[in-house]
Amino acid sequence: YAPLAEIDPEVKNIIDKETWRQFTGLELIASENLTSRAAMEANGSILTNKYSEGLPNARYYGGNEYVDELEILCRKRALEAFNLDPAKWGVNVQPYSGSTANFAALTALIQPQDRLMGLGLPDGGHLTHGYYTAKKKMTASSIYFQSLPYAIVPDTGIIDYAKLEASAKIYKPRLIICGASAYPRDWDYAALKKIANQEGAWLMADIAHTSGLIAAQELSSPFDYCDVVTTTTHKTLRGPRAGLIFFRKDLENAKDLEKRVNDAVFPACQGGPHNNTIAAIATALKQVAQPEWKAYAKQVISNARTLADALVSHGYKLQTGGTDNHLVLWDLRPIGLTGSKVEKVCDLMGITINKNAVSGDASAQVPGGIRLGTSALTSRDMREEDIKQVAEFLHRAVQISLTLQKEAGSKLLKDFVRVASTPQEGLVGHQQV
Ligand code: PLP
Repeated sequence: YAPLAEIDPEVKNIIDKETWRQFTGLELIASENLTSRAAMEANGSILTNKYSEGLPNARYYGGNEYVDELEILCRKRALEAFNLDPAKWGVNVQPYSGSTANFAALTALIQPQDRLMGLGLPDGGHLTHGYYTAKKKMTASSIYFQSLPYAIVPDTGIIDYAKLEASAKIYKPRLIICGASAYPRDWDYAALKKIANQEGAWLMADIAHTSGLIAAQELSSPFDYCDVVTTTTHKTLRGPRAGLIFFRKDLENAKDLEKRVNDAVFPACQGGPHNNTIAAIATALKQVAQPEWKAYAKQVISNARTLADALVSHGYKLQTGGTDNHLVLWDLRPIGLTGSKVEKVCDLMGITINKNAVSGDASAQVPGGIRLGTSALTSRDMREEDIKQVAEFLHRAVQISLTLQKEAGSKLLKDFVRVASTPQEGLVGHQQV
């Protein structure tokens, strides 16, 4: 029962440093958020000790009466969070992460080497949506399935639904995946459903990034059109790191979809569920069901729009010119910078962002943009006025990056890196509660 500081001061110290980094920095990574203390407490609970392979009331281990109660509660809350009728939708809450949720969903829906289409990675899609390069198939979704990416219209940054329809006619995919990691606009699920129906394909949405905003009904709902919906639970949903798979229960031609999804999660792709995580998901979903959640989601979007407007007012170029959701994709190429340069300078300024491909990048290795998200800053209660200040900091970061680029290898660059890398007195070793 001795505390961490006593048993393992090294790890405690690392956690303290990371706590300091998170509390004192500005977190603008679009896939991150600040999980509530309550959800953290559930995540760190003794539920981690329990094995419970199987499903509630059908386990391979004894002693699961409370774990069953927990998983049933978590499922109920997941359906309620998205306003889903339990007669029409079911959910599996066991996936360890978004990637495993997606692979399990593919395993449930299609056969090895069947064809799928997902948004290409350079256009904002995710690795698990069939990504491969000319040199290598490096993701399980492209190793075990054949895939053809669809794309955005280069000039507008919007999904090219017409081209997708034309390609699907030729390629005949068994599955179309919508959803993205870096797409600042809402999706036309009706158009995608029409295309999927024409080809007799499944339609799956991966709403990992936007699920918290969809739950608040601030973005259109994929549940009206898709057969399966996956999500992570730690991005806009603000829970622990995990995944969920929702599946339709009312499909005439696939009455067994529930069993297929459940079997795909366990035993096909995973072992025992992480019950501590499921507890934390349940707690996070309870928070999503509160009236304040809608206000949070609205503020996330308003903050993202404020950030977009502020950057545009400085003359910068954004992919799609703005945003409908929590993220902004900033194209740095017109000012002659790469995403990695600005990411480095921002790191030194205590602003955390990530370099990101933008449409038409010559090389995926040298992304020409950065991705910004407002979920975490909104969780810290930042409003439009704060975000305008953040935009000024980002503007400064870009100006500094431009100066440093001109001065590459100079004393100015070395001095900047030295000064910016030295924590200010008074903050060193500072511990947050
Ligand atoms: N799907 C999308 C759209 C994502 O953006 C991500 C991660 O960023 C994932 C899936 C994978 O989630 P995880 O990192 O939990 O495996």
